[in-house]
This record gives sequence, structure tokens and C-alpha cells, in this order.
Amino acid sequence: MSLQEISQKAARAAEAVGRRADDVNLIAVSKVQPNERVEAVLKQGHRVFGENKVQEAQGKWPGFKAQFDGIAVHLIGPLQSNKTRAAMELFDAIHSVDRPKLAKGIARIAQELGHCPELFVQVNTGEEPQKAGVLPGDVDAFVTECRSMDLSITGLMCIPPAEEEPTLHFALLAKMAKRNGLVGLSMGMSSDFERAIAQGATHIRVGSAIFGTRVS
Ligand SMILES: *Cc1c(COP(=O)(O)O)cnc(C)c1O
Repeated sequence: MSLQEISQKAARAAEAVGRRADDVNLIAVSKVQPNERVEAVLKQGHRVFGENKVQEAQGKWPGFKAQFDGIAVHLIGPLQSNKTRAAMELFDAIHSVDRPKLAKGIARIAQELGHCPELFVQVNTGEEPQKAGVLPGDVDAFVTECRSMDLSITGLMCIPPAEEEPTLHFALLAKMAKRNGLVGLSMGMSSDFERAIAQGATHIRVGSAIFGTRVS
């Protein structure tokens, strides 16, 4: 599918539930994609991208940022504490804040840099042992802890278990965000972004549907 088709589908999904198309941010997930494909999407005017590895993004985005104005890159993958500074220098948003040690590092470095990316707390809604994210039962306390460090949290992020109906997970994430006074919901990928929008997604992370199958 093309970028334009995905944008149209996202807009229709928003309007179907009485939301504005503008309230849904499409993050084009460019991880592992060849530069030609990324450049083609930039040339179509798209400016918001997602990467899941700090090092890969460091090799790719400074060059594109020198060529195209207004690019925003979101980190959607796990962040190791020792890469916090590099991530904060490169990314406009971090969707994987999931532990106090990381939050503390972000708070300290934000003071030094004088700016902070937008932050999303990742929630392991399926409570999967191998998956990153705060457990649902710990979300309220963790958001409170982040706020006590003066971190501004934009919203919550989840990656539902592959084999389960994602709608239940999206609804759960929306409920947790609401009770914590958070407006951002980073949820929905190529296979389920329309269902995520129906549940209130403000940031959808779509890779293969835009760029084609990842070749690695
Ligand atoms: C790769 C990735 C995506 C995009 O997945 P697609 O199925 O290609 O749309 C979204 N979110 C995260 C966290 C990812 O790692």
C-alpha cells in the first residue's frame, strides 16, 4: 500500500468514530528499510518516522535531516540506559519509557540539555515475560513517579501479543491513560491501526504497510 492509501484509511477510521483525522499522527516505521524507500516517502512530503534502534537511527537520520526540513524521528524500540543521552539528542519522542532507572536518567539529562523529547510509557498489556513495558498494575505508580521527577508524560504505548485480538489491549491502554490524565495513545501497527484508531490511538506506528516487507 502507498503512504497515501494508509493516510486515507487512517482518516476514514478516525471519522468513523467521530474523531478528527488530524488527531491521529502517522509514524512511518522505517527500521531496516533501504534508504531509497525512506527517501521516496520523504519526497512524498511525509516527515514523521519511527526507528527501533538508536545506533541504526544515528547512521540514517542526521543525513536525511540535512536534506529535508521538519523531520521528526520517534524511538519506538527498547532503550538501554547507557544510550539515553544519544537517544535524547537524536529523537523527538521516546515511546519506550518503562523503568525508574531510565526515567531518572532522562530527567537528569533533560536538565543538562535544556530540552526533553516527548515521552510515552510503554505498557506490557499482555503481561508477556519476554516483552518490555510496565505491567498494567504498576502503570499508575510509575506515571506518578515520572511526574515527581518533573518529567512530562505525553501518553502510553503498547504492543499487544501477536496472537490475541488487539482491540482488548487498545481499550485497556486507553482506560489506563484516561485515569492518569494522559491524552497520548501510541498503538496500532500495519495489521491493526484502524482498530487502534477506533479505540482512540493518537500515534499509529506503521512500517511494512507503507514501505513493504522489511528486508534485513
Ligand atoms: C516494527 C514496529 C512497528 C511497525 O510494524 P509493522 O507491522 O511493520 O507496521 C510498530 N511498532 C513497533 C514497536 C515496532 O517495533
